[in-house]
Formats: sequence, structure tokens, C-alpha cells
Amino acid sequence: MSLKSNVKRLIIYAFFGVITTAINWAVYILLQKLSFGITLSNALAWIASVMVAFSTSKIYTFKNKARSFKELLEQIILFIFSRLLSGLLQIFLPTLLLSIGLTHTLFGIRGFWAKIITNGIVILFNYTLSRTLVFPQKNLFNCIKNKLKNLPICSKIKSRKINERSTKMLSNYHTHTVRCNHAIGLEEEYIKRAISAGMTDLGFADHIPYLFPDETHVDGAKMDMSLAEDYFSTLLDLREKYSDKIKIHIGFEAEYYESCFDKTLNKLMEYPLDYLILGQHRVGDYRSPIVFKPTQKEQDLKSYVDTVIKAINTDKFSCIAHPDVINYTGDEEIYVKHMRRLCAAALEFDIPLEINMLGAATNRHYPNERFFKLVAETGNKVIIGCDAHSPDMIINTTGFERCREILNKYGITPLNYLVFKKLR
Ligand SMILES: [Zn+2]
Ligand SMILES: [Zn+2]
Repeated sequence: MSLKSNVKRLIIYAFFGVITTAINWAVYILLQKLSFGITLSNALAWIASVMVAFSTSKIYTFKNKARSFKELLEQIILFIFSRLLSGLLQIFLPTLLLSIGLTHTLFGIRGFWAKIITNGIVILFNYTLSRTLVFPQKNLFNCIKNKLKNLPICSKIKSRKINERSTKMLSNYHTHTVRCNHAIGLEEEYIKRAISAGMTDLGFADHIPYLFPDETHVDGAKMDMSLAEDYFSTLLDLREKYSDKIKIHIGFEAEYYESCFDKTLNKLMEYPLDYLILGQHRVGDYRSPIVFKPTQKEQDLKSYVDTVIKAINTDKFSCIAHPDVINYTGDEEIYVKHMRRLCAAALEFDIPLEINMLGAATNRHYPNERFFKLVAETGNKVIIGCDAHSPDMIINTTGFERCREILNKYGITPLNYLVFKKLR
């Protein structure tokens, strides 16, 4: 997170700090009017202000979403704990400052400066605890982890680890079926191949049956909604049949089209859908051409990255398939500038980036080495995806070796498994 966004956050935080203080006073005055005792009025005023501070920090300052009731409860307890700690600071710090000679009086108030400095420190203290302890940013953690990872000693150990671990793929979440009109083979053949390759998890993510606003529009490379029923029932049967040998997951690969994404996802939620991966083959409108054609226009690259970032912000995609699919052949600096934004957004939302085995096996313009150099610098999670359109593409030796070579070159250890984002 940049300094600028931290400062912005701190300003929002300070703004709500003022409101919180006002509420503290308002509650106190009200209770006094109702003839409550001073201690009780202060205690209730404190509780009210902590509640307001918690809610505004959570919703506005840190934009945090708790994933469960347990997580929310933990946050509340940690928040109260951090406020109790800063309460101690507020009580004892002025005395300490006075004792070291900060005894100046202003406006006739003794220890005025000591109190002002204490207030400043308490705000920073509260902010820091909220940012790191109560609503931790994955981002911050990743940054520290990444700095450590890049120490020479760590990268040596790591490159040894890659060579040990990635000789085998334990999972693949990018498998197509005949329903998209450009894949071949039975689902069962893909599954058998995955089992014999030693995989423990196989995810099907066929091209999503989009419900386009223009109902007459047909995307020939996508499943039709009428086939969704069969897609799920076939895979559920196979999941059952092979349950002792491999875990089968059911997903879709989708572009993010703002005009019809929610509607399509809502429809598909009628089925036991496990996950989505983003495959942004087109940018903007669903009728626009695919992004495979080489382009030197910055605008093309920018629109692609902007769309992917919008998709990331939905927090519905568990992985970004071939994030480097955009075929930008222009200036290196411009490429880095925009793709770095993509990597940063993926890191912030903790979405792994795929290195695409199909592209590697068939010498496409992706996987793009310069992209994975950026990925390593940003510290993104990476997973290898088969993008299988035929059973033999579940582990293609040429493609796999090429992916490994790129990852090894930049010291990236691929993930063994994906963690699915919540869709409901
Ligand atoms: Zn395809
Ligand atoms: Zn695909």
C-alpha cells in the first residue's frame, strides 16, 4: 500500500475520530442531564464511542469484510483490547511527558502540550493497531513476507525447494469440456488422466454460459445455458464415482462483462458451483474481438488491465487464468506500468495468477516472461493451469517444463492448491 493511500486512510480515520469524540461528549451530556452518576456516564459514553469507532473503522477506513461471525467477534475483542491499551497511554503518557519537562502552559491549561502530543500519539497508536492487528491487510503481510523472501539466503533455499516440489502437479483447476464447442474427450478421460498423473484435485472450468443482454448473440466458444444442467449432473456423478481417488470441483472460466456478470452468476448459483476463474479474452463489450491480436496501443493494454482489476474487485474469482493473455508488443515501460497495477490488485485481493500450460505447450504469446518477472517482484501467488481442451493436456510435458523453467528463473514457487472465493 502506498504512502499516499495510507495518508488518505489516516485522514478518513482522523475525521471519524472527531465524530467519535463528539459522540462521547453528546452521550455524556445527555446522561448527565438524566442525572446519571459521573462514572457511569463516562463509562457509557466510552462504550458508545468505541462502538462507533469500531463500525466506522471497519466500514469506511479499512473497508473490511468479515467472512464469518467468529471473525467479526475476534475483531471486536481485539478492537476493545487495543482501545484499552491506548486508554492507558492516554492516562499515563501526559504525566511522563510532564516529568521530562514538557510543562508549558497554554490558554491557562497546565500540561497543554503534553496533552496535545499524547492525543497525536494515541491517534497514531490506534490507527496502527487497527491496521495491523484488528483489520490486518493481507497486503502488508505479503509485503513483509516478500521482502524476506528476496533476501539472498532465502532465494537459495527456495530455488532448491521448487525443484523438489514442482516436479509434480497436485491439482489443476482449468479443464474444459465438449460443451464449449472447441474441446474434445469425455470428462471421465480427463479424470483418469489426472489420477494417473498423481493429482488429488481436478477442477472443471468450462467457458461460462453467459446470459448476454442481447439474447440473440451467440458466443460459439462458450457453453450454452441449456447445457448447464448436464454439465453439473455429469460432473456430480463422476465426483461420486471417483470420490476415493480424486476431488472433483465444478467451476467456470469467465470474462468479466459488467453488463451481464451478476445476472449470469445468479442464474448459475442455482447449481452447486464451487468457483470461478477469470479468463478475460475480450475487453469491454462481449461482442468485441479477442485480445490475441498483437497491439502497440497503450489504450488496449490499459483497458485490458482496467477490466481485469474491475473483475478482481468483485472478489468472486478464485484465480486469474492467463493474466498475460493481452498481446501488447509496444513499449516495455508502458507494459510494466499497467501490468504492475494488475499484479498489485491481485495481491491485494489475494488472487493467484495462473501460468498457462496450454500457451506454453503451443508456443503462444503467453506465458510472457516479462510478466512473470513482475509477478515475482510483486510477490503474487502463482498456480500452474493446464487449460486442458483435450485429456492429453492434463500434464503436457513440454508445456509443464516450459512453465517450470519460467517460474524457476524468477524464483517463484507455484501453489499446490487454490482456495476458492465465496460466491454466495
Ligand atoms: Zn477454450
Ligand atoms: Zn481456458
